[in-house]
Amino acid sequence: QAKAAGRNQLCFFDPVTQAALAERAVLEADLRVALRNTQFELHLQAQVTHLGALTGAEVLLRWRHPVRGWVSPAQFIPLAEQTGLIVPLGEWVLQQACFQLALWAEQPRMAGLTLAVNVSAHQFRQKGFLETVQNLLSRSGAPAHRLKLELTESALVDDVEAVIALMGELKQLGVKLSLDDFGTGYSSLAYLKRLPLKQLKIDQSFVRDLLNEPNARAIAHAILQLGESLGLQVIAEGVETEAQRSLLVEMGCLAFQGYLFSPPLPLADFIQLTRDWPSRPRLPAPGPAKVL
Ligand code: C2E
Ligand code: MG
Ligand code: MG
Ligand code: MG
Repeated sequence: QAKAAGRNQLCFFDPVTQAALAERAVLEADLRVALRNTQFELHLQAQVTHLGALTGAEVLLRWRHPVRGWVSPAQFIPLAEQTGLIVPLGEWVLQQACFQLALWAEQPRMAGLTLAVNVSAHQFRQKGFLETVQNLLSRSGAPAHRLKLELTESALVDDVEAVIALMGELKQLGVKLSLDDFGTGYSSLAYLKRLPLKQLKIDQSFVRDLLNEPNARAIAHAILQLGESLGLQVIAEGVETEAQRSLLVEMGCLAFQGYLFSPPLPLADFIQLTRDWPSRPRLPAPGPAKVL
């Protein structure tokens, strides 16, 4: 029958493609159920300063599938984006984060911490995104300035003026904006200057190759200098080794995230981490104060 269907449709009979499509359909159905039954959980990964102080955490979504076990966001986020499910899912994550921030505001040890929430391009460009954030902030009572939204360059490409206006309104609310995976997208520097951003996030691919690839090092360095000249904070993600950390400190990096400090943790474990933090012996000592 493949032949009868014509050349262009031969790919539909490719057993590999077919299996992948079937797999995708099953996962999509499961994703809808997961949303109804709340099979998702927020994990939190510490963000720290060059001196080792804890400043907050990035929220990383986890899906506990009843049969498959933990499913990685690298698998289900793209699917959620393609199916539009990212909108209700992303709203759920934001809601959880806001209510957490409101609880923390009452607790001296937690009150100063920020939560960074990933926002998909599709979600960001959805009509009513601003109102959703506004509503969640007021319903929860979360302090807006403790909420950070991580956007990727793909969220910012379409209608430049509309994007800048939306970002400006979010900033008005007090919400901080960070540009995730920076260096891997296509934003022009002229454009970047106009965006009301607080932070650039050096993509982990550059951090990973920092010590063995001169190009990765050059890019990380350039991003740090760009941040400095534009008045933006720069955070390095995916920091796994002390060698990476100290090289980044030498290049002027003041904020860090990665397995070196902590993996993403379930909420209860993250709260325990904040208890233990000041006395943790494996906290890397601040390097010599070097100014580049
Ligand atoms: P991302 O926002 O760039 O998050 C960083 C990813 O790097 C996370 O993967 C994190 O667990 C991982 N990571 C952290 N430290 C290290 C390290 O030292 N070394 C290495 N190799 N990796 C590290 P994860 O949790 O699998 O999330 C993958 C991506 O899924 C995220 O990339 C983000 O784009 C997306 N994502 C996660 N949660 C959400 C969410 O709630 N909403 C949306 N829209 N996207 C999300
Ligand atoms: Mg992120
Ligand atoms: Mg990233
Ligand atoms: Mg990423």
